Amino acid sequence: MPCLVDFHCHLDLYPDHAKAFTDCEQAKIYTLAVTTTPRAWPRNRLLASSTRYVRAALGLHPQLMDQRADELTLWEEYLKQARYIGEVGLDAGPKFYRFFDKQVQIFSRILHLCDQERGKILTVHSARASKMVLDLIEANLCPSHGRVVLHWFTGSPSDARRATQLGCYFSVNPEMLSHSKHANMIKGIPLNRLLTETDGPFSRIKGRSTTPSDAALAVEMLARVFGLEPSEMASKVEENLRTLVSEFL
Ligand code: MN
Repeated sequence: MPCLVDFHCHLDLYPDHAKAFTDCEQAKIYTLAVTTTPRAWPRNRLLASSTRYVRAALGLHPQLMDQRADELTLWEEYLKQARYIGEVGLDAGPKFYRFFDKQVQIFSRILHLCDQERGKILTVHSARASKMVLDLIEANLCPSHGRVVLHWFTGSPSDARRATQLGCYFSVNPEMLSHSKHANMIKGIPLNRLLTETDGPFSRIKGRSTTPSDAALAVEMLARVFGLEPSEMASKVEENLRTLVSEFL
């Protein structure tokens, strides 16, 4: 069986951060440990420094931009250390719309800096803001300079087509696949742009919070959407991850 992939998980938000890393190592789950603030970067980077399966990402979460916009300076200081960036993006949900302008300003700057630095792989949040996220990616990050993975993307089928044309990948989790509307949109995405994620511990299935091993469920559900065997789907996802990470090297 191929290895599982969890391309977006908050390992630092589980009760035992270090154990969350070693659990992924032992289960051979390729995991991207995303962060919501650059303050979390040094410890995540350290924990990922001796792992084969886990990588850390440098983030600045859009939902925190009313309180933590000034942490952009720290994020910029760490940028050269990081190949993976996230969680970053936009959130136009009712609780966050009040400071949407601030989010746009910060995310534009992040994309611009990633474009300049080159070779970054970003995991991007786009809740209720698919079109604006794609507009900013198009305006600020050249597809030959870096790659975006849209995490928990819930845009329309035409947004998904546009994102594909911009070179984006998509990481999908079991909770989003349980909505037929989103599963249907995902069906239109080319197979070679799909990755799996859990967004643990935030996403929920069967009334509980997810962990990276629930990427298996994302694989099974994706396999059903595409009419493939789960093992074929798992191979495809692992192959897509290899392709993604070997770009820009
Ligand atoms: Mn997340």
